[in-house]
Amino acid sequence: PGTHRTAVLLVVGVLSLTTGCAAGSADDDKPFVGIAMPTTVQTRWVADGENLAEQFGSLGFDVEMQYADDDAALQAEQIEQMVAGGADALVVGAVDAGSLTSVLADAHAAGVRVVSYDRLIVDGAAVDYYASFDNRRVGALQASSLLQGIGVLDEVGERTADRGPFAIELFAGSPDDNNAHVFFDGAMSVLTPYLADGVLVVPSGQTTFDQVATPGWAADVAGERMASLVAPYRSGTRLAGVLAPNDGVAQAVVAATGDLGYVPVVTGQDAEIPAVKSVAAGEQYSTVYKDTRQLAEVTVQMVESLLTGSDPEINDTTSYDNGAGVVPAFLLAPQLVTQDNYRAVLVDSGYYTAEEIG
Ligand code: BGC
Repeated sequence: PGTHRTAVLLVVGVLSLTTGCAAGSADDDKPFVGIAMPTTVQTRWVADGENLAEQFGSLGFDVEMQYADDDAALQAEQIEQMVAGGADALVVGAVDAGSLTSVLADAHAAGVRVVSYDRLIVDGAAVDYYASFDNRRVGALQASSLLQGIGVLDEVGERTADRGPFAIELFAGSPDDNNAHVFFDGAMSVLTPYLADGVLVVPSGQTTFDQVATPGWAADVAGERMASLVAPYRSGTRLAGVLAPNDGVAQAVVAATGDLGYVPVVTGQDAEIPAVKSVAAGEQYSTVYKDTRQLAEVTVQMVESLLTGSDPEINDTTSYDNGAGVVPAFLLAPQLVTQDNYRAVLVDSGYYTAEEIG
């Protein structure tokens, strides 16, 4: 690792010399990366930030990291400041996918390279690469685990003889987050045939993205919506399950359905500690684990390649068009976590200690 690091610093040093660009935060010539993270409400972003800072730091990069409190205007200001401060590259987990077009055009014009982190930045924004997970697969995993929990699919994903009908309700994420649409489309690609043939029904009638979205990914908003839907499920109709797009929404749904006298199947995402404990306790049915350490590795590799003029490793050149064209991407594999495998997946991999989720 020592030699590799020296080589990287050397090449970057030469690059900044020959282009004359002020690499580093004015007082040194280390490459300088600005990291713009959307929020600390979902704890995954805290882990993302820590992993990125640590991995960039160990390569000798200067790092500035800003969290935007889910405020798109604040995030645009933070990015402008990082560019003004001499950032060579930006890693951006956008608050609002469509609101960074002009800020990033200015950054690009100033020679700053841009990696869209986890969430695709759209509306033709100047984005060099996209580091994320297979977000469509996240949604498909949520939907198939919903079907498994309900009993429509068996544990190997084969259809059982049970024809229902089973009542479900649907939730999606924030409309300004491109991922929310992709998660929902991925989930609906799995659920639609079962809705079409009547095995699944949605008694509220709310099935479009707009009807089921959760602005700002706000768990309290999702909890209120669930509370407004729950009455018919107290008597007569059993609520078999709820498609929840992440753990924050899932936990709000679990709370709002907690007095039904039975436990509906509720999906999730992020493997946040309270959700994992809930899965272990048999409340939330599943979550989707996305290893933020791996996402940081992919991102650091992209930035390093961009700044040294080599080609980053990518594995997808078709899925994510942001309006200006397809953004070349590296997409990592998400993994379903249930009561059966949470220890093996989360503790054995070192993501959490047994104490943290015990
Ligand atoms: C991320 C999810 C997260 C959600 C809310 C999405 O873009 O992919 O992991 O739960 O935002 O922060």
